[in-house]
Amino acid sequence: MTMRFADIAAERPTRESLSAEHADIEALLDAGNRPAALAEWDVARRRFETWSALVHLRFAQNTADPAAISDRDYADALAPEATALEIAIKRRLLADPDRAGLESAAGAHAVRLWDCDIATFDPAIKADLEDESRLSARYTSLLASASIEIGGMSVNLSGLAPFAEDPDRAVRHEAEQRRWAFFERHGAELDSLYAGLVTVRHRMATKLGYATYTPLGYKRLRRVDYGPDDVARYRDQVREHVVPLVAKLLERRRAEHGWDRLRFWDEALIDPAGNPKPAGNADFLTAQAQTMFDRMSRPLGDFYRLMNEGGFLDLLNRPGKAGGGFCTSFPTEGVPYIFANFTGTHHDIGVFTHEMGHAFQNWESRGHPNVDYLWPTMEAAEIDSMALEFLTYPHMDLMVGADAADRFRRMHLIGALAFLPYGVCVDHFQHEIYANPGATPSERHAMWARLEKLYMPWTDYGDLGYPAKGGRWQAKPHIYGTAFYYIDYTLAQCCALQFWVRSRQDPAGAMEAYAALCARGGSAPFGELVRSAGLVSPFAEGALAAVVREAAAVLDA
Ligand SMILES: [Zn+2]
Repeated sequence: MTMRFADIAAERPTRESLSAEHADIEALLDAGNRPAALAEWDVARRRFETWSALVHLRFAQNTADPAAISDRDYADALAPEATALEIAIKRRLLADPDRAGLESAAGAHAVRLWDCDIATFDPAIKADLEDESRLSARYTSLLASASIEIGGMSVNLSGLAPFAEDPDRAVRHEAEQRRWAFFERHGAELDSLYAGLVTVRHRMATKLGYATYTPLGYKRLRRVDYGPDDVARYRDQVREHVVPLVAKLLERRRAEHGWDRLRFWDEALIDPAGNPKPAGNADFLTAQAQTMFDRMSRPLGDFYRLMNEGGFLDLLNRPGKAGGGFCTSFPTEGVPYIFANFTGTHHDIGVFTHEMGHAFQNWESRGHPNVDYLWPTMEAAEIDSMALEFLTYPHMDLMVGADAADRFRRMHLIGALAFLPYGVCVDHFQHEIYANPGATPSERHAMWARLEKLYMPWTDYGDLGYPAKGGRWQAKPHIYGTAFYYIDYTLAQCCALQFWVRSRQDPAGAMEAYAALCARGGSAPFGELVRSAGLVSPFAEGALAAVVREAAAVLDA
């Protein structure tokens, strides 16, 4: 029988029901019955996560629905309680001197993750955590409030995407003028929200005994096997190997078009003939994706059929729906869910190549006995999604038509490379921010402007005054929402590019290694997952140089 999204239900927990569950688990531990305690705790966490995922998904599907709003508020208020109880159990388990016994019962990596988690929380920072989520929610709603007039219509910031990559240079220029006018208008509030976030994060770090927020930020992302020095070396590699190639590609584009200078608004038009678009509407893409996945592998094809037929895809843009796209999961059931907003551009194809990668990983990992292993940490999770973007290359004729497939692959590859300098710049900026928590807003803008010259020396904002003065970072939600989360995409891209190189030589072997990596889920830290897939760690010298060489050859640069 087909599993259906409509059948998934979860009982709404209360403070009392959570406390009662917690007491049961404590009682089992008191009685010395650790296996039963671990099993009951895992069931309770899955139940809570399924409920929480459903509540947040239903809100995203209709942000104007009063019931969905009140459920989300309720879930957000309950989340810190659930975290506090969870941390208490982790502390208790970790206090057991029999570490080896705990590791064999719960998994060595899970124990390492819990070690990391308990170092990020203390009841003394509860109010700070609430402040942090309030400030970052305010940033989200400020950006969501943008209503921009362009091309005779009114769009939000993500609705600007088709205009920002329009083949007509004047339209692209206008799109960027409108975008940055919005940020300039709200500049003071954006500065003050960020100042608030940096202050509250630094305060939490101090209360927990850290000198700055940086080590706490790394721990909150559950990074157990690398640190800021490794990341700094990776940024240097991007500067050494990727920046010159991207500069060359952009210079070629400028010459091809006969422009005197390549402006900021020209960067999104990767293909001189116009970025390739999907060859049909959402129904067309949804059907074509079935053919594509069936051709790639039996498990991938079968899984996609299950998602599609079971109602686990919500792809169309409609009034009241939250922006963006994501993949969420219901750990009691095992089937994930993809949420997206189609715009009619090539970004729609990413739903089937990127979000499906996340979904497939989660599905393939459903057999892990430990809820901690259903998703990897974020830099590893993004390998599963970004690698699929490259593995689907040979089938792109199904999505964009046979005549545009090659142009699509070139566009995607150039986009992947051009992303790296920007991604590491976002990361470097945050390291400077949290090392200098007392900086003024104008000092922060100056920091960004200086780093931008280092990583993206080609950037020419022309008459766009606000980003020219160092304001571009304010458009990046991750900088506000989840500090230090962004380098993850660049680390994963380095690994995904390695899958691309391998698939050019051995498509079947690459697909097999990919599926095996997905099935490992989050059962190991980043470095170990990378090694187990036969990839070179992005932190190792030469990892980027090799893929950049191959890309340069393919792009004839
Ligand atoms: Zn992703």
